Amino acid sequence: MTHSKKKAGPKGGTKAKAQARTEAPSQEAPARKARQKPMVIGGVEILPGQRRTIDLPVTDLSTHTPITMPIHVVRGRRAGPCLFVCAALHGDEINGVEVIRRLLRLTALKRLQGTLIAVPIVNVLGFLSQSRYLPDRRDLNRSFPGSAQGSLAGRLARIFLDEIVANATHGIDLHTAAIHRDNFPQIRANLDDTESERLAQAFGVPFVINTGFREGSLREAASGFSVPVIVYEAGEALRFDESCIRAGVKGVVRVMRALEMLAPSRRRTQRTSPLVIRSSKWVRAPHSGLLRSAAALGSAVKEGQILGVVSDPFGENEVEVRASVGGVIIGRSNIPLVHEGDALFHIARHEGTQVIARSLDDFEPEAAYESGLTSELAGEAPIV
Ligand SMILES: [Zn+2]
Repeated sequence: MTHSKKKAGPKGGTKAKAQARTEAPSQEAPARKARQKPMVIGGVEILPGQRRTIDLPVTDLSTHTPITMPIHVVRGRRAGPCLFVCAALHGDEINGVEVIRRLLRLTALKRLQGTLIAVPIVNVLGFLSQSRYLPDRRDLNRSFPGSAQGSLAGRLARIFLDEIVANATHGIDLHTAAIHRDNFPQIRANLDDTESERLAQAFGVPFVINTGFREGSLREAASGFSVPVIVYEAGEALRFDESCIRAGVKGVVRVMRALEMLAPSRRRTQRTSPLVIRSSKWVRAPHSGLLRSAAALGSAVKEGQILGVVSDPFGENEVEVRASVGGVIIGRSNIPLVHEGDALFHIARHEGTQVIARSLDDFEPEAAYESGLTSELAGEAPIV
C-alpha cells in the first residue's frame, strides 16, 4: 500500500509537487518506536505524529488557474488502520463537508492510533458550480476506476484511487440525496463483506441498506484494493441539515472506535442494532401534477397506505399515491411539481412496523453530542 513519489498529479510528473502545510509543526515529534509505514500523498510525505494539509493538483481551469483537491491527513504516532473519510464526491452534496469539519476539531485526534485521511471536497469542480457532476457532465461516482489519460472525471477518479484509496485500509463516503430529494440517515454497504458489515453496524444509524456494487462507483473500485467502504446517505443536496450532520459525526467517531483508532466510549450505551434492509422500492407518480405529500421521512408505512395525492392546479383529477410495499420511508422527493413516473417515495421494505419503531427509538439525532470524545462539540452552534 505504499506509494510511488512520482505520481504527483494527472499529468505524470509535469505538475508541481502538491502544496503542503504542516500544522502545529511536529506538535508531537515522531515517536521513536513508531512502526508506521511511510505515507506519501501527492509527493508529500506525512510522518507519524504529523498533521498536514495537502493541496493535490487536479487540473487547470480554462483561465489557467490551477485546481487542487484539499486533503487533511492526521497521523497518529502509533500504527493502526488508515481510514479515509470523503465528501462531495457529488459536488452538490455538502452535509459531509460539515461532518468532516467537525470531525477535524476533535482533540481526541491527538491520541489517534493509525491515520485519518479527510477529503472534504472530492469533486472540487462540481462543488464550485454547485453541481453533482463535473464540467464534462460526467458523474464521478460512475467514472471509477478512471485513467490518467481519460476524461476529466476519469482522471479525478484515478487520482483519488492512487493517492487516497491506495494508502487506506477502510473508507467512509459521505453523500446526501440528489437535489430536491431528502434521505433519512442511512448506511449503504455490501453486507456480504464482513468488514463492511462491521463498519456499517458500528456507524449506528437506524437503517443499514444492503447494496451491491454499482458499476463505476468509488465503493466498487475500492473493493479492488481490498478497502471496504461504507456510504453514509443523509439529507438533501445543497443544504446543511443539523441532525444529519450530527448523526454523521457520531457515526464516523463510532467507526473509528470500532477500528480502535480512538479510545472506546467510557459511557455504557445500550443501542439497538440497526435494522438491515435487503430490498427497497421507489413509489412513482401515478399522474403528472402537484403532489400533496402525507408521509414524512423516516415514517413506517403499510402496504396500500396513502402517501400523498397528486392533482392538477384546479384541484381536479385527484389521484392517490399509495405505498406499493410496507416498510419505512428512507427517501423522498421534496418538490411538489411532478411528472408521471417521477420517483416520489423510497420505501425500505420491512413488514414489522414495531421493529422499525424500535430501531428508530434510540435514534436522537437532535440530542446533544454524547459524552466522551464528541462532548466537546456540544458548544458547536447548531445550524438551523
Ligand atoms: Zn451522492
